[in-house]
Amino acid sequence: MRLLIMGPQGVGKGTQAALLSSHYGIPAISTGDIFRFNLKNHTPLGVKAQAYIDKGELVPDELTNSIVKDRLAQPDAAQGWILDGYPRNASQVVALDAILGELGIDLDKAVALSADRDVLLDRMVKRAASEGRSDDTPEVITTRLKTYEKETAPLLSVYSERGKLVSVDGTGDVKDIQARIIAELEK
Ligand code: AMP
Repeated sequence: MRLLIMGPQGVGKGTQAALLSSHYGIPAISTGDIFRFNLKNHTPLGVKAQAYIDKGELVPDELTNSIVKDRLAQPDAAQGWILDGYPRNASQVVALDAILGELGIDLDKAVALSADRDVLLDRMVKRAASEGRSDDTPEVITTRLKTYEKETAPLLSVYSERGKLVSVDGTGDVKDIQARIIAELEK
């Protein structure tokens, strides 16, 4: 199973990607987590990405595309994966298509989770309190949601036109949301 998990910040992509990862026995690959690991460890990639992440802007495509290309070529990704937080703009869609073409594989589905803006804001504020992420301040949250609307939301119609989009209500109990996603994927 090769899946994208899409939707705005705070919609629960990471939580659902982790549950789907255990369900299908495939890795959940989050570009945000890869960046945060590199920030924490002060790697050259982390140093280059820091200013963008702190402002809530997208990290430049050439950096992001190359980490995804390397990660999808790892042995544990051979049987499938769930990509969380990538692609996030039109040029990343083109890059992902090229990566998949080189690997001779295709996507199964793109799962789009949705929730009202007040639910998203509430979840992000709670996450800021529990995880202490540097990019969960009110100003940066606003920038990240704006970037999502402008750059990423239009990608849903790209995957819909390709017949890959599965839209799922991201509100309610975590397990119920997971059951909804799996039911859609197995239809
Ligand atoms: P996330 O945890 O997915 O919200 O990602 C946190 C931050 O990492 C984002 O606000 C971006 O600065 C950066 N990031 C994550 N994924 C991408 C991506 N696909 N393209 C560019 N920047 C990204």
